[in-house]
Amino acid sequence: MHQLTLAEIARGLADKKFSSEELTRTLLARINQLDPQLNSFISVTEELAISQARAADARRAAGENGPLLGAPIAHKDLFCTQGIRTSCGSKMLDNFKAPYDATVVSKLAEAGAVTLGKTNMDEFAMGSANESSHYGPVKNPWNLEHVPGGSSGGSAAAVAARLLPAATATDTGGSIRQPAALTSLTGLKPTYGRVSRWGMIAYASSLDQGGPLARTAEDCALLLQGMAGFDAKDSTCIDEPVPDYSASLNNSLEGLRIGLPKEYFGAGLDPRIADLVQASVKELEKLGAVVKEISLPNMQHAIPAYYVIAPAEASSNLSRFDGVRFGYRCENPVDLTDLYKRSRGEGFGIEVQRRIMVGAYALSAGYYDAYYLQAQKIRRLIKNDFMAAFNEVDVILGPTTPNLAWKIGAKNNDPVAEYLEDVYTITANLAGLPGLSMPAGFVDGLPVGVQLLAPYFQEGRLLNVAHRYQQVTDWHTRAPTGF
Ligand code: GLN
Repeated sequence: MHQLTLAEIARGLADKKFSSEELTRTLLARINQLDPQLNSFISVTEELAISQARAADARRAAGENGPLLGAPIAHKDLFCTQGIRTSCGSKMLDNFKAPYDATVVSKLAEAGAVTLGKTNMDEFAMGSANESSHYGPVKNPWNLEHVPGGSSGGSAAAVAARLLPAATATDTGGSIRQPAALTSLTGLKPTYGRVSRWGMIAYASSLDQGGPLARTAEDCALLLQGMAGFDAKDSTCIDEPVPDYSASLNNSLEGLRIGLPKEYFGAGLDPRIADLVQASVKELEKLGAVVKEISLPNMQHAIPAYYVIAPAEASSNLSRFDGVRFGYRCENPVDLTDLYKRSRGEGFGIEVQRRIMVGAYALSAGYYDAYYLQAQKIRRLIKNDFMAAFNEVDVILGPTTPNLAWKIGAKNNDPVAEYLEDVYTITANLAGLPGLSMPAGFVDGLPVGVQLLAPYFQEGRLLNVAHRYQQVTDWHTRAPTGF
């Protein structure tokens, strides 16, 4: 039963082949048995899951139907869940039980999804390897010595290991797409404003966006359908109707114009990944797509701009964790300054402290113009590059990551080496565009992902291309040995 996708589960539940409670118990047992190898969960919410599953079964018995009714999922541990620890992967929030549900959590609960637990993540979503978590690193099920990517590494490892069919995640600079690539999943970062950020603990508010991680594009469509939509509680959430994402999955790709940015295929890209990306292009050509070389000339400035803007916003967002109102408080402070200093010094890990310092520096009076303002200008240039490209093509295709999943610990002494892994993903966040990563093969037993980018609100187009690709390839169906 653990091999089933969300779409298959929906059919099985509708046909009464099994109940949600049966399925939920099977997956909870699997998590208990296998997760010690992976460390993909911070909390398993067994009681909640069983009661939600029973409620979903009762709703079905009463005649209700729906693709997520009774479907087991998990939430990245930065979505607030009422009465349940919401740690953000940090010692700072280890004792924090959210007083309310995030909009994404309540929307999915209303649709009948069953929450199996909260997944591990890089502390405050800062990282690309899931090594900065207070709860320890997450292992990649394809090779337990390697990272699963981050910051949504727990959601990715759990779904890849068939502990559950799908999970929520967030993407500030690649945290849905990069772990999807490194664990052979399909992951979608929606357009900025498509999914409510209310109750999603903020890292960099102008870049953060929630989205689905699943094995197939078809499942991403189902989960996104449950997550997307206007929310008056998030002032940046956009009041645009949500299309039926499943309805366009099978659209023809005849004449689809795919842009390959020449800057994506230069030095720094593992040539074995480049080959698999080219192979995926060939498959899409067979389906009717036409390929064109394009240029994104400002791409080289994306990493420096992102690593000014994201820390700047983080330094402001994380100032609320001061040891006073909630979260970690140091022992026996001698005065207020000592309370602030030690609560933050002891509660935050090293990477979070580094980002707060970089961000505060970039925003300080003497350096604001030189760094923050400059980075914002680059951000506009990057957006302009995409707008020009989308005059010529319908989607942009390239690698999701320049390298394969690396060994746990390999980049620990070199934060910049880890930042460079985000080279292909962060531009979509800077521009607010939707992006998807889909499985495209393996090198040395480690998964490779292909990234697709589209104009604003064209999530349906991305899912359509990925779904058609998945009908003629089987990378997304392969399971890691031992899981
Ligand atoms: N690796 C990037 C960072 O550390 C992106 C993380 C994310 O998308 N949350 O900022």
